[in-house]
Amino acid sequence: MPARILVVDDVPANVGVLEAKLSSEYFDVSTAADGPTALAQIRQSPPDLVLLDVMMPGMDGFEVCRRIRADIATQHLPVVMVTALSDIEDRVKGLEAGADDFLTKPVDDTALFARIRSLVRMKMTMDEWRLREATRQQIGAVVDARPPSLADAQGARILLVEDVEVTARRIKDVLASDRHKVEVAASARNALALTEGRDFDLILLSLTLGSDDGLRLCSQLRSQERTRQVPILLIIEPADVQKLAKGLDLGAADYLGRPLDRNEVLARVRTQIRRKRYQDRLRTNYENNLSLAFIDTLTGLHNRRYLDVHFRTLAERLPVHRKIIAVQMIDIDRFKPINDTYGHAAGDEVLRAVAQRIARNLRGFDTVIRWGGEEFVVIMPETTMKQAMMVAERLRRRIADSPITLPPPVGNVQVTISIGVAATVPGGVPGDALLREADIALYRAKNEGRNRVCASGVAIP
Ligand code: GH3
Ligand code: MG
Ligand code: MG
Repeated sequence: MPARILVVDDVPANVGVLEAKLSSEYFDVSTAADGPTALAQIRQSPPDLVLLDVMMPGMDGFEVCRRIRADIATQHLPVVMVTALSDIEDRVKGLEAGADDFLTKPVDDTALFARIRSLVRMKMTMDEWRLREATRQQIGAVVDARPPSLADAQGARILLVEDVEVTARRIKDVLASDRHKVEVAASARNALALTEGRDFDLILLSLTLGSDDGLRLCSQLRSQERTRQVPILLIIEPADVQKLAKGLDLGAADYLGRPLDRNEVLARVRTQIRRKRYQDRLRTNYENNLSLAFIDTLTGLHNRRYLDVHFRTLAERLPVHRKIIAVQMIDIDRFKPINDTYGHAAGDEVLRAVAQRIARNLRGFDTVIRWGGEEFVVIMPETTMKQAMMVAERLRRRIADSPITLPPPVGNVQVTISIGVAATVPGGVPGDALLREADIALYRAKNEGRNRVCASGVAIP
């Protein structure tokens, strides 16, 4: 699914350059020549990211950005300011107006694309959380919908990974003015040790780290469970665009270039902290008070009733955003003999283990539902048929490749699953028709011998 990008600039030549660059990377580009037009377009058909010129007659970029942030419907839209000035004051002004980043013309391609990919990725996660939140609202759960505030951005626990002592001390001093509590690690090993048993809100990571590989550390921090959700802010040398692109691809949230500017450090740290806390709040809301009526007691997954409500939320929102959605219908192969051979209790254990394996092998924004007996449904937002087929195939292998181990006397039980995959067209409505298509594909997978994935031939409008 190509990300949709809105380019706003009053100079047609600038629009043309960006449009050509972005289209060549398969982004879906629309354009606007002034602030009011841009805002109207955003309201009508929200893009995934806005590239915003600062100097425009009438309404300037700062004002456009402020208005995007002030509207609850658009406040999470990633905004990147683009300007001919490399003036540091403009940068800070932009970040304070709520921009996520700043690019200077002429725009460096590597930085641009890496930046856009990482912002779009972040937006997808936030979108999914907000969709779930909307479903919960319909269910009647108490939802704390306050937008993140400035107070949310202070007094954070920060891990600073920097091997030059004077630099570390200077950064620590800057962060002290926002009452952040900073711990300094001078090496990769030291950093990993500090993350044990301690929760951080943010990691500031220098990519020039003596003999240690900063990128490697970045990747380790992103993959270990306890730091996976912690945003990473890279500190890079000005010329190190290649390293930066890699870092952002590995999942770093943002970066600071040396020489560090005090106000820019504070502004970027605030943005990350605010976003982290907002996301944490959505997550706890979600985990804490989801009514038991919507949870399957055996597996802990969502149940069918939840899917009904969630589909209603999606059906209301997705057509507006022209998004596509894919579903997998999963059924365990020859499950009845497992019950017959080992007993119903062992069958329950196998169901639980399969559910867990499915949930662990999906992205955070995919939703798994126990549809009934030994059947599961996976909802995958913003996923094409081709991507969904890859995910389903990986899932099939994860189940088939190693047996499920139950306590003696049962021991190892070999299980396989069959999967039917279906998707909507962009803007299509997810609902019963989509599930029916997935079910037809599943039926074919069973008929063709089981332990396989089949695609539906029909995209749901
Ligand atoms: P296939 O899907 O490959 O065609 O064969 P199957 O044997 O898996 O399909 P079938 O639909 O005939 O059997 C499903 C079995 O799942 C029957 C039912 O007893 C069992 N089952 C359904 N819900 C539960 C449950 O909560 N716990 C246990 N232990 N078994 C369950
Ligand atoms: Mg079945
Ligand atoms: Mg079955």
